[in-house]
Amino acid sequence: MATPKYKRILLKLSGEALMGDDAYGINRQTISGIVAEIKKVADLGVQMGVVIGGGNIFRGVAASASGMDRAQADYMGMLATVMNSLALQDAMRLAGLPVRVQSALDIQQVVEPYVRGKAIRYLEQGRIVIFAAGTGNPFFTTDTAAALRGAEIGAEIVLKATKVDGIYTADPKKDPTATKYATISFDEAIQRDLKVMDATAFALCRDQKLPINVFSIFETGALERVVMGATEGTLVYC
Ligand code: UDP
Repeated sequence: MATPKYKRILLKLSGEALMGDDAYGINRQTISGIVAEIKKVADLGVQMGVVIGGGNIFRGVAASASGMDRAQADYMGMLATVMNSLALQDAMRLAGLPVRVQSALDIQQVVEPYVRGKAIRYLEQGRIVIFAAGTGNPFFTTDTAAALRGAEIGAEIVLKATKVDGIYTADPKKDPTATKYATISFDEAIQRDLKVMDATAFALCRDQKLPINVFSIFETGALERVVMGATEGTLVYC
């Protein structure tokens, strides 16, 4: 059997990925489909940290645009990521996957706090670790949490799962001539002003020489193919 290219990865899922075709919240069927994709990789023995967004429930920036205090709104956004993390944990449990959730905000009755050493131990024991509540700080995003936790746990790559299957020269929905990059360097992505992740997350990955692979979680087998080293989606390299 071929061996995976990566031993330890950080998977970033957007909150929107959990909605399926719904307008809001968590679609059970969609989440089971995502877990089935994750299971293929876990079964290969790949150690996996997961960061999940909260955009399917609440986004701080959007709420502050309509007058809410930004920091307060961001705390609500972080709590939304905790809800998604619990839903994902439960779907993983149903699929028979060993999984722990650690939160950057202290809510110990619900989930254990984030402790780096413990998270790494869980990974070594073959458990998936879901990092909830983003970075624990307002004014940040879960993309930044993914870059941060990815660097902290020594992940070899950040896999950013999106609805689109990679990074394009232009928005493929608006421009039919748009083409997908198979690979692109951090420098070229900056030069071309391509939005891979938000600027803080992108800078952190670049500084830490942590590559990013953008791919679609809705393409069957895509996650596994990336982990096996195939060219899938877009690889942003140092
Ligand atoms: N958030 C935050 N700090 C963090 C991560 C997230 O304040 O470190 C808040 C922020 O309000 C954000 C919301 O949580 O809008 C949901 O996260 P994000 O927008 O990154 O989710 P996604 O777009 O990936 O679903």
